[in-house]
Amino acid sequence: MGIQTDMSTAALLAAANTSILSTAVRPELVMERGQGMYLWDTDGKRYLDFVGGWAVTCLGHSPAVIQDALTQQSAALVHSSPSFYNKPMIQFAKLLTDLTGYDRAFFTSSGAEANEGAIKLARKHGSIHRGGAFEIITTINGFHGRTLATMSATGKQQWEPLFAPKIPGFKHVPLNDLEACLAAITPNTCAIMLELVQGEGGVHEAEVAYVQQLRKICDDSGIMLIFDEIQTGFGRTGKLFAYEHYGVQADVMTLGKGIGGGFPLSAMLTKEAFNIFAVGDQGGTYTGQPLAMAVGKAVVQELIRLELSLHAQQQGRYIVERLHQIEDKYNLKHIRGKGLLLAFDLPEPVGAELVAAGLEAGLLINAPNPLTIRLMPPLIVSTTDIDLMFNQLCGALDSIF
Ligand SMILES: *Cc1c(COP(=O)(O)O)cnc(C)c1O
Repeated sequence: MGIQTDMSTAALLAAANTSILSTAVRPELVMERGQGMYLWDTDGKRYLDFVGGWAVTCLGHSPAVIQDALTQQSAALVHSSPSFYNKPMIQFAKLLTDLTGYDRAFFTSSGAEANEGAIKLARKHGSIHRGGAFEIITTINGFHGRTLATMSATGKQQWEPLFAPKIPGFKHVPLNDLEACLAAITPNTCAIMLELVQGEGGVHEAEVAYVQQLRKICDDSGIMLIFDEIQTGFGRTGKLFAYEHYGVQADVMTLGKGIGGGFPLSAMLTKEAFNIFAVGDQGGTYTGQPLAMAVGKAVVQELIRLELSLHAQQQGRYIVERLHQIEDKYNLKHIRGKGLLLAFDLPEPVGAELVAAGLEAGLLINAPNPLTIRLMPPLIVSTTDIDLMFNQLCGALDSIF
């Protein structure tokens, strides 16, 4: 059977139902095009996007800078080999280290891989400097990815019985509970790893004093501190990186999602003291992949040129203000978050129904759990987009309550 290029939506969905491995429940539509704040499906229906490709499309959909970077770089060099340097790889590493004060960058394609790198680096650190320590303390409701090691690092209770045996060496403690963290530290501990704002866990912020204490504990004991900024990085929380809210840096920071604006790209940044991998310890076919490097560089430069961190801070404030105006009417609770990583709780566990009602009305929102709605629009979101979103959100809420 040949592949038809002009399949109808019904034919596409029929083919999807028999050819795509079942891993997710997806709505009966097919996305075809994106521009700015909007996506369009194959029937021409338009969706205002407050999920942003899962906190990824920071510059909106199909931005010109990504198109240009891909066009120019793909004409020059699509791929050389991980065993060679290439120009955009060096330029992007220099840009990131200059921006952050970290010294070294390792590039991969997905957030989980960046975290795998951080986990390996933590164990390497433990083996060299802490007598073979290999345990990593992470937080309950944290999220670090879907490879076997990063699922093991993730403190999601529903995942505990899955894919046994898990990778050993992870202890999960409640976020913001310093005593629990202290109690979990043993001579076997090589690292503490956390998100400064738990994204998938439902937008829960680490407290400033807690994070500063973790920094001190790690300094005093030689334990490595890792911030997973895959969701919080690149302006999402109203600062270029979430650590700027805390006045401390980790030894290792992992980045993903927004870094490529939609192109598969992630990075692990470290201080010079943790530049400790031996040759061959870490690698990957696509590390420093030229197209990804060119896109990352273009995206980060554009984020800075447009001052999108500040814009995210301002637009986030406006969304929170608007949420407070409707909280009593709909009995919303715990309006929370920073910048454009925001959430609120519903009075009843109808998250999935609300997401479906939004979709019907042409609005994309996310429910990380049945009680919580999360908003993470592209950082370019305008006040007009926000007003439009509230019209649609209230319509969806009215249809349910
Ligand atoms: C999304 C996410 C990951 C995993 O990234 P992938 O690109 O899906 O592998 C890891 N950590 C955090 C905090 C995330 O939000």
